[in-house]
Amino acid sequence: MQIDTLLKARWIIPVEPDRIVLEHHALAIDGGRIVDILPISEAELKYQAASVESFDRHALIPGFVNAHTHAAMTLLRGVADDRPLMEWLLDHIWPLEQKWVGENFVRDGTDLAMAEMIRGGVTCFNDMYFFPEVTARQAARCGMRAVVGLILIDFPSAWASGPDEYLSKGLALYDELRHNPLITTAFAPHAPYSVSDEPLLKVRTLAAELDRPIHMHLHETRDEIDQGRQRYGMRPMKRLQQLDLLGPSFVAVHMTQLTDEEIGQFAESGGSVVHCPESNLKLASGFCPVAKLIKAGINVAIGTDGAASNNDLDLMGEMRAAALLAKAVSGDAAAVPAHTALRMATLNGAKALGLEAEIGSLEIGKSADVTAIRLDELETQPLYDPISNVVYAAGRHQITDVWVAGRQLLKNRELTTLNTEELFQKAAAWREKLISVQERP
Ligand SMILES: [Zn+2]
Repeated sequence: MQIDTLLKARWIIPVEPDRIVLEHHALAIDGGRIVDILPISEAELKYQAASVESFDRHALIPGFVNAHTHAAMTLLRGVADDRPLMEWLLDHIWPLEQKWVGENFVRDGTDLAMAEMIRGGVTCFNDMYFFPEVTARQAARCGMRAVVGLILIDFPSAWASGPDEYLSKGLALYDELRHNPLITTAFAPHAPYSVSDEPLLKVRTLAAELDRPIHMHLHETRDEIDQGRQRYGMRPMKRLQQLDLLGPSFVAVHMTQLTDEEIGQFAESGGSVVHCPESNLKLASGFCPVAKLIKAGINVAIGTDGAASNNDLDLMGEMRAAALLAKAVSGDAAAVPAHTALRMATLNGAKALGLEAEIGSLEIGKSADVTAIRLDELETQPLYDPISNVVYAAGRHQITDVWVAGRQLLKNRELTTLNTEELFQKAAAWREKLISVQERP
């Protein structure tokens, strides 16, 4: 049978079914989709592929899903470190954004972010930022899969004057992207402390009508809870419940402050949580009780958050941090075992975004969003269990090749759709601009 591509691999970790490692298997790809997974010897007899590639020292895994980021914020990487969330946002990040964020900032920042993510094995990212139409356009040009957040926040920005304009521009973008196979949208009200009730009620109605996820920061810090109680007389999650926002398509980012009762209620709502361990650690926001959430049946995915608060978009590092932190926080070394962490970084992310029928695991019929990671380096020897080495020992420099819908975006560590030299030049130019402002008295 004639097909487009045959990828022969030493190991394939499909993620679904759970904890399975296939040895000496091949992935058959045609029309951007996985059409077969079978032993190499059988594949060679059955398929004639236009392109055959061997990964005999590698594991093929599903592309990582970065379930929460602000891609363009790569340009603010390292600009203000070592400060608590509210001070970091109010005194540093928001003033810089007010001054600089525009189409060019988002274009260049998103390109840099996608380069980093692709080189880190990420094939899909869930974004929240201003000028989402620019993020969408750059992702489409690059060939990456993205869920672009229709940002909503009470205060004006260079993109919109207030909630009504955020929503109308967001809806126009939703319309434009509704038939795009790689780029979809989600409503993205920023956080309970930055969006008031009236626009949230509009989001609830629109998200239900258009069947889109709602992507929102929630219970990130103690401060947020205290502020919510002062302003609304209740904890932020309670307020969202009363506004009827929670439900299976609600994607809550952070969730470091949760009572057992809230965990039960959130589980009942059927929503997903995106855990961003390194952002929470760096901003001293608190600890997401991941083991408890999983035990309650909540779908937990992993995100890097923006590069300004992390400071990288390394989902492999994030996956490892999530596995380690869950053990420390729960006092249980058996919490979040390696395969669970890998699943959180792939299939659970897909599920949170409503994309689990399309991506998140290597299964026949799904899109060929694939990452190859070489495990023959010294740092991953000896190799008893490929899943253990991928999660606990390997680094993102071991990722060599990445495909989205069968199209190769990384080939032997080289980006195929982004110009590396240009990315370096633009990052340096933005640094010059931003530093000139910072140094002003
Ligand atoms: Zn965030």
